[in-house]
Amino acid sequence: MRIAVVGGGISGLAAAHRLIELSRDGSQSFEVTLFEASNSLGGVAETRQIGEYLVETGPDMFITNQPAAVNLCQRIGLAEELIPTELAYRGSLVLRNGKPVRIPEGFMLISPAKVWPVLKSRIFSPLGKLRMGLEFLVPRRKESTDETLAGFVRRRFGKEAFDRLIQPLVGGIYTADPEKLSLKATLPRFLEMERQHRSLIVASRKQATARESDGSGARYGLFTAPRGGISDLLNRLAEIISEHAHTKTGDAVAAVSLGRTSGYTVALQSGTRQEFDGVVLALPAFHAARVLEPPASKEVPEESSSELAALTDLLYGIEYSSAAVVVSGHRLADIEHPLDAFGLVIPAIERRQVLAVSFTSRKFPGRAPDGHVLLRTFVGGAMQPEMLEHRDETIIDIVRKELESILGIRGEPDFMEVCRYERSMPQYYLGHCERVARIYELAKAIPGLELAGNAYSGVGIPDCVSSGEAAAERISNWWSGKDATE
Ligand SMILES: Cc1cc2nc3c(=O)[nH]c(=O)nc-3n(C[C@H](O)[C@H](O)[C@H](O)COP(=O)(O)OP(=O)(O)OC[C@H]3O[C@@H](n4cnc5c(N)ncnc54)[C@H](O)[C@@H]3O)c2cc1C
Repeated sequence: MRIAVVGGGISGLAAAHRLIELSRDGSQSFEVTLFEASNSLGGVAETRQIGEYLVETGPDMFITNQPAAVNLCQRIGLAEELIPTELAYRGSLVLRNGKPVRIPEGFMLISPAKVWPVLKSRIFSPLGKLRMGLEFLVPRRKESTDETLAGFVRRRFGKEAFDRLIQPLVGGIYTADPEKLSLKATLPRFLEMERQHRSLIVASRKQATARESDGSGARYGLFTAPRGGISDLLNRLAEIISEHAHTKTGDAVAAVSLGRTSGYTVALQSGTRQEFDGVVLALPAFHAARVLEPPASKEVPEESSSELAALTDLLYGIEYSSAAVVVSGHRLADIEHPLDAFGLVIPAIERRQVLAVSFTSRKFPGRAPDGHVLLRTFVGGAMQPEMLEHRDETIIDIVRKELESILGIRGEPDFMEVCRYERSMPQYYLGHCERVARIYELAKAIPGLELAGNAYSGVGIPDCVSSGEAAAERISNWWSGKDATE
């Protein structure tokens, strides 16, 4: 069976690799071709060596309690290379009136697991703390309709908790506006906590007790990265794929058209066309919609064309935000702040021009030379889209001024570069889960077509690995005549 995997980000790599694994099992034989528009594989994930710095421009770590990425690393011989985060600097900061303040120990993204550190914290006013404490008494929500993340947090913990801490913590993950994000699509476990325990504080305390051994209390111990950076994972996958499959980079797929009776034609921008029995589209949703669109669909059998049109409409409806990451290397001697944490998040109410600063070399060893630090400063996102309109030099000027004012960073950096991520982060707005369910339903009606990627059910690396592998397995099940399962 000839399968095209379109998109060479982590989702597409995981899909191609899983198809190779399924072929190796012997029951099926897939001839896999991976298509990638750019000249290199990895999508938004990339590790670069800049002088003595090991620089992640995209993702720099992944969570281990969603096991897909760790499992994949084990299967490709990378398990030994996975390193934990540094113990010494576990913790995060939030900006309050221009000054970095430590986030209370045991704060789990939305909910505190420990009361005393919140009571002592300088982040919240006495009234804000009182309102947070009333969370114990807030009843469950009666309606079962989707709720925004911001609405949920304000309902349970009050406005101040949202404005001062939870907005930048959660907004940062999606470079998003939490006023629009769907709670069910982004952080369903908190919805479940409310359903089961009513109070999130009670539920978080129970979970934290189970994790008491982690000195920081919070989730920092749950993250890992390959010793040589995320590209260790990408390169290993690329190596296996190049041994067992065909890889075509530097030529975008222009259209994927369904044959009149069966199969697919993949047309590349260069004009080449190739026939396949099945296709995995591991692309941002709007790219997936574009390649499936007419004129390709003119050849589609009539009964499939309305489904295809509905599918592309739904895919186009998933919005994306753009962000830039400014990577920079500095001498520690040039920095006033001790940088004794993994990073700093900045609430929108602080009215700054940066969203967050990750102290990357504080998280993992080997990222910066001795006496130096590697920083990654995030700008733009759904809250400040205008930032991406600036030229690189202007963004660098803005970031330098902000870093000086917030962290006291002076002197010439060893390097400073802007990495742009245009329309890279899908926004899971209200109704996202229902949209995705309908997308999968429509795609299921088109035999041999599968969708994967960060647009649907999670943006983290483990989510993307799961999504790519699940698409490969659905294709395999479909081909062997079994019921496709989601
Ligand atoms: C700055 C940043 C930091 C992040 N940090 C973390 C982190 O620390 N931890 C974490 O778990 N997650 C993180 N994420 C999220 C995670 O990295 C992404 O969700 C994930 O890498 C997306 O992978 P993907 O394969 O779905 O999509 P992409 O990486 O976007 O890959 C899609 C690929 O499709 C290709 N393509 C597009 N159109 C075509 C076409 N017509 N033909 C052929 N190819 C095409 C593109 O060139 C691209 O290579 C971060 C994301 C960003 C942007």
